[in-house]
Amino acid sequence: MSQPIKDVAIVGAGPVGMSLAMELAALDVSVTLIDAAPCTALASPDDDGREIALTHASRKQLTAVGIDIPAGQMAPIREARLYNGASSRGMTLASARGEGEDSIGQLVANHVIRRAAFEAVQGSGRIELVTGRRVSALGTCSGGRSVLLDDQSQITARLVVAADGRLSATRRLAGLSAQVHDTGQRLLVRRMAHTRPHREVTWSWFNGERGLALLPLAGDTASLVMTLPPHQAERLKALSAEAFATEATRLYRNSVGEMRCSGALHDYPLVVSRADHLVADRVALVGDAAVGLHPVTAHGFNVGLASVRRLVEALTHHDQAVRDVGAPAQLAIYARHHQRAILPLWHASRALVTLYGDTRPPARLVRHLALGAARRAAPLQWLMESYLARH
Ligand SMILES: Cc1cc2nc3c(=O)[nH]c(=O)nc-3n(C[C@H](O)[C@H](O)[C@H](O)COP(=O)(O)OP(=O)(O)OC[C@H]3O[C@@H](n4cnc5c(N)ncnc54)[C@H](O)[C@@H]3O)c2cc1C
Repeated sequence: MSQPIKDVAIVGAGPVGMSLAMELAALDVSVTLIDAAPCTALASPDDDGREIALTHASRKQLTAVGIDIPAGQMAPIREARLYNGASSRGMTLASARGEGEDSIGQLVANHVIRRAAFEAVQGSGRIELVTGRRVSALGTCSGGRSVLLDDQSQITARLVVAADGRLSATRRLAGLSAQVHDTGQRLLVRRMAHTRPHREVTWSWFNGERGLALLPLAGDTASLVMTLPPHQAERLKALSAEAFATEATRLYRNSVGEMRCSGALHDYPLVVSRADHLVADRVALVGDAAVGLHPVTAHGFNVGLASVRRLVEALTHHDQAVRDVGAPAQLAIYARHHQRAILPLWHASRALVTLYGDTRPPARLVRHLALGAARRAAPLQWLMESYLARH
């Protein structure tokens, strides 16, 4: 017996896919959420070492749809600073100011967000969850699309949303092209305890082919995020915990005193991506499937949540009534609005990484001048702050 057509099938129960499912369920839209991972892995996600910077707007958006992050699991960020190589002169990218705000956002572990979102999805009663299944083909049907899964079962929906990450298979199955850039670098992430306070400041240093960031967590602990060429990553990975801590203390120039490992070392390939078009016939891309930014922006999830908000606004025309969900005119509005918002961040982050990753003397000089100019005119600060204010 064929199943009735659903309103929306979302491929990918990551933090963005689950947030979208909750927003749509609140509007009485019928949703099927599909993920390749087994249900047990989604219910108790492993600690993947990622610390997500949540803006105040993102946190409000999550709370509004019933995704509650426990207050004790959040660490405030008061300032974000950027340094050029060995220079001690840095610039403030963003800082807490304005009425009533004593932080620019909060750091939350990715697995904490995923668990909270999964609990909300399970409690909603309006979302059908299909786990342990991959999408193998997309077809068309009257007024919608069919999604063929790898167990040969089929789901039909008026709209298919790809939320399956930066290497999205659904994007490819829908025939949507993307710029996928494998930087060839590795991203090492590790939680550390340290002897001097971090003062709730995120610090980023770029030094030729190496990028180092420190994200302040609760108490005297921080997450180290290192962008490295493979040979440097392999060297660090081979060290004992004690030797790694000594090396990290040296690399971070003793900025938070002596360090000690307090978490496992995680290693990611550094791939960034951007879809050329965000929609196709009754298909839309959200989250990292739409744009997978360089972690230097610390905005991947915030931008993903903004894509959810823009898609829901386009589907509802702001009037809370979803009629023909996935109609081409609605999708075109979404694509226009989200593409316009992400392009400046995409280009700015690519330019920043290119400029700060270049070891040649002219680039060092440009960097030095850029930091000097930025301290006065602060174009990047303006970009980041206006983005934080708007999103
Ligand atoms: C080391 C690191 C640090 C980061 N730090 C930050 C930060 O500080 N701030 C920030 O905002 N962002 C950060 N990000 C980015 C952030 O993690 C992503 O933007 C966010 O996870 C994107 O969520 P998503 O739901 O779109 O995709 P994902 O989290 O990638 O989820 C995709 C889901 O789709 C499923 N899936 C994949 N393929 C298929 C398929 N074929 N069929 C069915 N299901 C499928 C997967 O199982 C997964 O559950 C960081 C990323 C990394 C790697």
